[in-house]
Amino acid sequence: MAQLIDGKQISAQVLADVARDVEILKAYNGVIPALAVILVGEDPASQVYVRNKIKRAAEVGIISIEHRLEAGTSQITLNTLIEELNQDSSVHGILVQLPLPDHLSEEEIISSINPKKDVDGFHPLNVGALASGRSVQVPCTPQGCMIMLQQIHKDLSGKFAVVIGRSNIVGKPMAALLLLANCTVTIAHSRTRDIENLCRQADIVIAAVGRAKMVKANWIKPGATVIDVGINAVDEDGKRKLCGDVDFEAVELIAGAITPVPGGVGPMTIACLLLNTLNAAKRLTA
Ligand code: NDP
Repeated sequence: MAQLIDGKQISAQVLADVARDVEILKAYNGVIPALAVILVGEDPASQVYVRNKIKRAAEVGIISIEHRLEAGTSQITLNTLIEELNQDSSVHGILVQLPLPDHLSEEEIISSINPKKDVDGFHPLNVGALASGRSVQVPCTPQGCMIMLQQIHKDLSGKFAVVIGRSNIVGKPMAALLLLANCTVTIAHSRTRDIENLCRQADIVIAAVGRAKMVKANWIKPGATVIDVGINAVDEDGKRKLCGDVDFEAVELIAGAITPVPGGVGPMTIACLLLNTLNAAKRLTA
């Protein structure tokens, strides 16, 4: 039976460290880290994510400033707000909750954030820095996955990792971080042939697809570590439930270690957002 990688427990430790450092920064520099959170429109899932981020920020002593804009907000209005936040020295992190309504250009908005305040790590300069081996502002979800992996493997060097999914927010930065940790990395996606066979050779499988229970037990090498990023809502026994991209009940019998959904990668993502905000505040006020 696989060891459970408990995201709630590991994230609690990360958050405790952040809270301690927030206190130190306040005591020695008089600085309280502040995160501006921009939510455009009424997307229910985005509202839940933003609420959770703001709640956790308060718990670790980080100020959050919420900007709720109506769905019809223009690109110019949003750009103007971001420019104001870029200039505001009391704001250390800027987060624009994605997805944005279709009429807004995510690319343009993300590029307009001061890279030093880009706590999501999505700005092209931060993407480029990670790709060239300098991890300054690292996207939160892959960063959380790395912290969990390091709990299991003291040294990741030489491990064969398969990342399923090549999105800019999870798959690609995940692969970059694994490469930086000296793993041998393969990225699989919807056009990849024979994913099962690739995964069967892997010491580490990261599933970031968005397809409920896609990764089956016979895809996994006995003893491998499985990190499940997916969040999927499914109907089970007439109830709406959350599940990952991995067939957890079957895979936990084969894997060496595995993350659950919920309670795995999700809590780590928020913890890493607050860690990035703290680090941005430290750099901006040093
Ligand atoms: P995207 O939809 O942006 O990317 C999904 C990726 O999966 C794509 O690269 C796609 O390939 C690939 N894919 C789709 N179908 C298959 C298939 N049948 N076989 C192999 N690959 C496939 O999703 P995200 O990266 O944004 O998110 C992935 C999952 O992670 C989602 O469930 C999301 O909700 C969850 N998530 C969880 C977070 C957390 O904090 N726990 C944070 C962020 C996301 P292609 O590029 O070829 O289309």
